[in-house]
Amino acid sequence: MTSDITASPIRLGISSCLLGEQVRFDGGHKRDTFINEALGQFFEFIPVCPEVAIGLGIPRQPIRLVGDAAAPRAVGVRDPDLDVSNALTIYGTRMARELNDISGYIFKKGSPSCGMERVKVYQTGQPSKNGTGLYARAFMDGQPLLPAEEEGRLGDPVLRENFIERVLAYRRWQELLTLGLTPARLVEFHTIHKLNLMAHGVEHYRALGQIVAAAGTKGLRQRAENYIADFMTALKHRATRKRHTNVLMHIMGYLKKNLDREDKAELLELIEAYRLGQVPLIVPITLLKHHFRRHPDPYIARQIYMDPHPAELMLRNSI
Ligand code: SF4
Repeated sequence: MTSDITASPIRLGISSCLLGEQVRFDGGHKRDTFINEALGQFFEFIPVCPEVAIGLGIPRQPIRLVGDAAAPRAVGVRDPDLDVSNALTIYGTRMARELNDISGYIFKKGSPSCGMERVKVYQTGQPSKNGTGLYARAFMDGQPLLPAEEEGRLGDPVLRENFIERVLAYRRWQELLTLGLTPARLVEFHTIHKLNLMAHGVEHYRALGQIVAAAGTKGLRQRAENYIADFMTALKHRATRKRHTNVLMHIMGYLKKNLDREDKAELLELIEAYRLGQVPLIVPITLLKHHFRRHPDPYIARQIYMDPHPAELMLRNSI
């Protein structure tokens, strides 16, 4: 089966306070157990505290977003004349350029600097909750393809699995570019992700296939840019139980000549139990892998879907 973690570490940008660094305005931290103890075994973290980096110091006056939610300012809570909007934006743009080898980013939710979404923006009256931290905004604008998530959302098993799937796929794309973009490598990338894409909606696989199908090297760079932009967007679509069920049935089709009636019935029963939410995805996948060990299939063996992330993370045990 396809192995996903390569020899060199996969790097993730992260808000420093999530690692337990005491960089918050009050000298505290927001250490996150799952990130440190589970993800920390497989990823190398690159911690960034933008507020410290722009010279606000520890401890410091807290800041907040004010004004128009589409283009808020970051100012001091006690002293509104302290306006660090430009400093945070410039720093975010700079870091997006410098951290060009990371494969994902975990931002601290709710922060006027690091929050990805639903950050409070104070106007007159009640604050709205639809802002984005200014550092995070500038960073994501600088690296629009980079998988990004907040630690709060990583508590949701589906979003957690989705984030890691996107990080590892993006990493494979980065490796492809390092090796050198060729038509054959683009086709291979698309082929090994077929089942992943199907789990996010079969229409994505077809649409992306059309981009790949154009032959030759003419316009290859542009085609690849279009491809990866659509690919990363496709992976953000929720992989539902219904879609996973379709994928499992599709995979089972590769075993139809090898399984006897009892084996088929058992497999179908487990896939149905998964569809109904009675067992997690890992259960039918484990049985499928068991059958493919006895009856290997070269196409299925190349599919990232069969082995998408380190088993120790147990990401498929709760979806
Ligand atoms: S949320 Fe961002 S700016 Fe605030 S302490 Fe954490 S890393 Fe620093």
